[in-house]
Amino acid sequence: MVLVMNRGSTGWPGNRHVEASGEFRSALEHQRDRDLAIRQKPGIIFYPAVWLIITLSILGYQPADFLDYQPTEAKMSWLLGIGALISLTSLYRWYCTRRFATCLQNGQHAPLWLLIHALILNASSWGVFLVLALLPTPLSDHYSLIFTGTLALAAGGASSLSIKSTLVYWLMFSLLGPAIVVSFSGYSLQPTPLGLVLLIFAGGMSWVSNLPRREYEKAVISNLKLSQQANYLTELTTLDGLTGVKNRRFFDQLLSSEIRRANRLDYPLALLMIDIDHFKRINDEFGHLVGDSCLINTARTLQNHIQRSSDVVARYGGEEFAVILPGVETDDAIALAETLREEVESTITWNLTQPIRVTISIGGVSLHPVKATQPQDYLAMADKALYEAKKQGRNCTFWSASDGQISRVPGIES
Ligand code: GH3
Ligand code: MG
Ligand code: MG
Repeated sequence: MVLVMNRGSTGWPGNRHVEASGEFRSALEHQRDRDLAIRQKPGIIFYPAVWLIITLSILGYQPADFLDYQPTEAKMSWLLGIGALISLTSLYRWYCTRRFATCLQNGQHAPLWLLIHALILNASSWGVFLVLALLPTPLSDHYSLIFTGTLALAAGGASSLSIKSTLVYWLMFSLLGPAIVVSFSGYSLQPTPLGLVLLIFAGGMSWVSNLPRREYEKAVISNLKLSQQANYLTELTTLDGLTGVKNRRFFDQLLSSEIRRANRLDYPLALLMIDIDHFKRINDEFGHLVGDSCLINTARTLQNHIQRSSDVVARYGGEEFAVILPGVETDDAIALAETLREEVESTITWNLTQPIRVTISIGGVSLHPVKATQPQDYLAMADKALYEAKKQGRNCTFWSASDGQISRVPGIES
């Protein structure tokens, strides 16, 4: 994960931009897509809303004399025609935005062109409105009103869509482009320099929208970094510092929740308690550092040989480990216990050139149905079996049946 602040080639601080590599880049783009879908909404609402406000103003709408009011037929037709166009393109933009958001929700690729072409259509329909106010039409009397509305929409749109520069460029092009062309064409009733003013305005809006975009990118990346660090720290609090498997606290919480879940969903739950045999001798003979290496290797072997993502190995304490096996039937749990025991037995820890092997004793229990069994009941049953395994010579597995009977495996009736 690298967060690089790049200085542009000109050295001007304004050219700095945030570059995020790898998963930050794709996470940023994903977040940007989701925000873009949300940021379409003001535009979709404002185009018809501003048209309505302008239309009502033009028609001299006054609540008191509304019934008597008779606007000119030509003006009505122009306004209603452009209103229909703006409303239809807004509706279409809403539909495209929905499709874009649905793709994101379903985890599919959401093509940006869905937003771009709908924005072009929507903004162009307003662009036509402004053009009609520039040309000799009944709307030209209200040029200043429509012009002001257009600038407001352009500024609002640039601010709302600033997180993606492509959309800002297309917005300016579609909203102001037609009016700029008409201004320079000589057909406009307004002075030609108006085209230049609009051109400068479009360029300025595109340029100033770069700053909020960079700030947005920095904020998103900082948030992603912070949440990743928070996840990492949370993960750390669940791990055992020496061996890297889950710690006792995590184990205690998990056992309680797995018992409740197994009970609710009616599946079996197995628990293995594992203790390294004569571990004190290893410490005494080779020292604590070698003892630590043996613990690490044993934990790694256990972790490497559990079979499902729901199986969890935890360090229960000192040289004791516990394995929780949700949804594993007795026979499979016993087979896994034996595999773990054999794998640990064949694991070598090197003390320089001297190979050290340790063995483990295992006490297991598997209940189905789990009913209202408490974590301490589970632990007590597994512990009893482990005690028996120690008593019967170590490096073996003993199993606690649901009726409390303890027997050596293999040879247990499940
Ligand atoms: P048994 O077969 O009956 O389990 O014998 P044991 O020697 O394994 O059991 P005992 O409880 O007598 O000794 C456990 C030893 O484990 C004592 C303790 O020093 C050692 N131990 C506990 N935690 C650690 C650790 O983190 N690192 C090291 N190196 N040793 C540890
Ligand atoms: Mg012990
Ligand atoms: Mg021991």
